[in-house]
Amino acid sequence: MVEATDDEGGAGSDGADYGVTVESQSDYEPQTDAFDDLLASEPADPENIDHEQRGQQRIAPPWRKIDTLPRPLVECGCGDCPERYDPLADTDTVTDAFSDLMDRSTMAADECPNPRPMTVERAATAYYVYEVATHDRDDRTSKVEKTAKQHGRYLDGERELLTEHYDDPSTALLSFRPRPIGDAPDPEHRDSGDNYGPTVESQSVQHSDGKRRWRYPTTVDYQLHQPIRKVYEKLYQQLRDFSWSYVWVVSGTDSAATPHLHWLIYVDDPDDELTAGYFEPAVDAFVEHCQFARHEDHSVGDDTDSDAVVVHTEPPKYDDVDDEQLIENLHYNDKEGFELNTRALAYLLHQRPYWVFRRIREGQQSLGDEQTQIDLQAAAVRWASVTDGIASSQDFPS
Ligand SMILES: [Zn+2]
Repeated sequence: MVEATDDEGGAGSDGADYGVTVESQSDYEPQTDAFDDLLASEPADPENIDHEQRGQQRIAPPWRKIDTLPRPLVECGCGDCPERYDPLADTDTVTDAFSDLMDRSTMAADECPNPRPMTVERAATAYYVYEVATHDRDDRTSKVEKTAKQHGRYLDGERELLTEHYDDPSTALLSFRPRPIGDAPDPEHRDSGDNYGPTVESQSVQHSDGKRRWRYPTTVDYQLHQPIRKVYEKLYQQLRDFSWSYVWVVSGTDSAATPHLHWLIYVDDPDDELTAGYFEPAVDAFVEHCQFARHEDHSVGDDTDSDAVVVHTEPPKYDDVDDEQLIENLHYNDKEGFELNTRALAYLLHQRPYWVFRRIREGQQSLGDEQTQIDLQAAAVRWASVTDGIASSQDFPS
């Protein structure tokens, strides 16, 4: 059903070859329509966020099996370990000189009798310094390099799909958003079993004080992925008279790095029959099977104006951009039947969490900014999660 491709390097070309690199994101001035509003909206995140409080939450629950977390995201929990076991020891000054970090043989994850997941805030720093360490070595592939390869592969794949399989496609973009705040899982609960996350992370116990808390980000991510098969089954039923394909992408919200998922569906639709109504059962399935989702965050209204479903019978293409590099690439790709990518896919691929590293490297974002910190947290959450960050239907060339 789902072809997970998150960890594959693959052949394809680097995203930077295509003009739709991350730079386009900030320069991009599309005509305002409901589609853009939708991608910027975050109906499940709270208003007036206390970022300091959120940053102090652990990135994963205390009962998560420690060896299922990346070692750099694990710290001492016993209080007696030497300072040097901390993955962030000696990295106070963020420079580019971390190339030997990955060779550290002793970390809290290995040495501490009672290791624990870092806070969200520390994990964001750890993600950044270890990504620097990896990126600057020839013998390792950084996360942003993998993302760039996938970026090019998926854009290539979409153009091939549209050229060869779809004469007159319509698209639907579904958006699934769990709430990051609620009755928190019991922090005292410990895994008594023998497997990681999946079963234990789904447990949620009302706090005795009844307060709503920030949920563990990896728990939110896990719950986000739980309904995927049910959603797929509904799509399969509803679209049985059409030929269709899909890609889904996980990213973090701008306001709280909350994992959420956009599911882009291509439907062969010569008579423009597709409406948002076709997707209501899939949206309902998501809300019913995601413990942290609410119907009020997943409205299905007019085709182009609702939280959860946007349908385009003429999918906007990634061509209404004043982007010299893109135009160059159009000339370069002058083969017959050349297709432009959809704006939807270009947008979704840009939102992937690990791009923050490249934006920092290229000076578009700086480490001191609050938004950069949130973006780094989203990258750390993705790193700490055991789920896939992108997947597509098997007919999607990639
Ligand atoms: Zn310790």
